[in-house]
Parts: sequence; structure tokens; C-alpha cells
Amino acid sequence: MEIYLAKTQGFCAGVSFAIDIVEKALKKYGMPIYVFHDIVHNTHVVNDFRSRGVVFVEDLGAVPEGDRVIFSAHGVPPEIVEEAKKRNLKIIDATCPLVAKVHKEAIQYSQAGIPVVLIGHKNHQEIIGTSGYVNPKLLHIIQDAKDVESLQLGPAPSKIGVITQTTLSVDETRQIMDSLKKKFPDSQLLLKADLCYATQNRQDAVKELAQICDLIIVCGSRNSSNSNRLRETGSSSGVETVIIDSVNELDMEILENKNKIGITSGASVPRFIVEDVVETIRNVFTDVKIHSFENPEKDIIFKLPEI
Ligand code: SF4
Repeated sequence: MEIYLAKTQGFCAGVSFAIDIVEKALKKYGMPIYVFHDIVHNTHVVNDFRSRGVVFVEDLGAVPEGDRVIFSAHGVPPEIVEEAKKRNLKIIDATCPLVAKVHKEAIQYSQAGIPVVLIGHKNHQEIIGTSGYVNPKLLHIIQDAKDVESLQLGPAPSKIGVITQTTLSVDETRQIMDSLKKKFPDSQLLLKADLCYATQNRQDAVKELAQICDLIIVCGSRNSSNSNRLRETGSSSGVETVIIDSVNELDMEILENKNKIGITSGASVPRFIVEDVVETIRNVFTDVKIHSFENPEKDIIFKLPEI
């Protein structure tokens, strides 16, 4: 058996940024530390912080007046910032800088009065955050190419600002853009590169694995958008692809009669999860050869803010 490790192993820069901010806050201030929403969408990361006393809340009302709250990597809408200020909470913002960049685009389009089509998963924390920066009268949220059919923007606008969640499928986003171009041939579609480098690289790496492997294992939590897109990318490349949160979820039977196994992980998955999977496979199957590749992202780092 041969194992091919995707070249994009470990945390993306935005996830490292958010986790390091919580670590820094713990070191500098100690308890109590509250985090609004899961700091990143990975159960192991969240459970580790929880075991060290960090409290995760979905409602700011659960944070006592005057205490310290960290906003997660996915970002928050301005109303949440306002509410935190009103309650005298000490705010630490761990929003990924690439998500914050998307918020700025939203503000620019709204200030220019340009209708905004926001592509993403409606209940995802990032879309809840980004949509808050768009003037509600100009905001249109769509999830897929089907939604383009029912999209009503009134008389064809001269410009349409298109914003996306950072972790969407690259291929699906291209299809949605094609549908938008067909539906609004006379409008100029303004689209910046919102899909982040980590999303693009991880999906490219899965496509490379799909050319070689007969099974792909994606390590990632069920609520992780980018991990789910990796599973879909593998499946739509025609290769059996499964997603597991940890090695405990790995069904060893699916490995039987497979010769080349690809293993990848979402952007918020700690390295030990993949290492556990590799180790477990090596313990069950004899003569397993591991192939690994240089990570193209290893030098991408976001500078931590003063807190
Ligand atoms: S996946 Fe992209 S947008 Fe999300 S935290 Fe990582 S770098 Fe930032």
C-alpha cells in the first residue's frame, strides 16, 4: 500500500492567527476568556481550549459585563461589535485578515450603492458576518447556480458586486459566475479573489491526489466548510472520498483492496489527526510506503495584533 499525503498539511495562516490570538490572550490575561462562536471549525481545537477553561458562547449575553471576548476567525457582523461595546466587553478580534478584506469590499460596494450578490452558505458564521457589512437593501445571498435563476435585482444594474465566502468550491463558484454572466449580460460583474489561497491550494491538492489514488481520506470536522468542499472535490473527481473527524471514525474495511490512499486535511485540522491516521494504517497493513511533498504555504504567516 502507498499513502500520498496532500502537500497542504497543517493549519492555514488564518487558523494559526486565530489560535495564536487565543493562546496569547490566555498567557497575557488568564481566565476568564470568552470566545464568540467556535474559534475555528475544528472539534479538537475547540475541545482543547475548552479543557483549559476557555468558554465558547453563541450569544454575547452569556459574557458577563466588562469581561474579555474574542471574535472567531470567521468574523462577526457590525451589530455584534456594537453589542459588545455597549456591554463594555473587552474585544479581541481574531477574524482572519482575508475575511476582514472581504468585509471591506462589502462596505465599499454598499457605500457606492452597488447591488451585492453574496455567494455562500446562508447559516455559516462567515456569511452571517459578511452580510452585516452590506446595506440590506443591496444584499442578495445565493448559495448555488440554481439560486441565480430566481435572483431579482430589478432593472439590470450597470454594476454588480460579487462577494464570496472564502471557503467555497472553486469549480462551483466558477459555474455560479457563468450563470450570473448569462443572466445579467449587460451588467459589469465586479469580482475580487475572495476564495482564499488555502481553499484554492487544498482543492488543487485533492485533484492531484485524485489522479493517483483509489481512495481519499479527508480529515476535518463536519461543520468545517473547507473540509466538506475537499470531500466534494475528491468525489466529483470520481474517487471514493470520505471525511473523518479523527482516526476513531476511520472504517478500516474501506481500505481493503485499495493500493493508493490519499490523505488530506481541512485548513483547521491539527497535524496530529493526520499522523494518527497514518500510524493506524501502518499498524494494520504491512509494507506501507509514505509519499509526502513540500508544502507551498509554509511561509505564509499573518502578523499577530497587539492585544
Ligand atoms: S481558510 Fe482562508 S479565509 Fe479561512 S481562516 Fe484560513 S486563510 Fe483565512
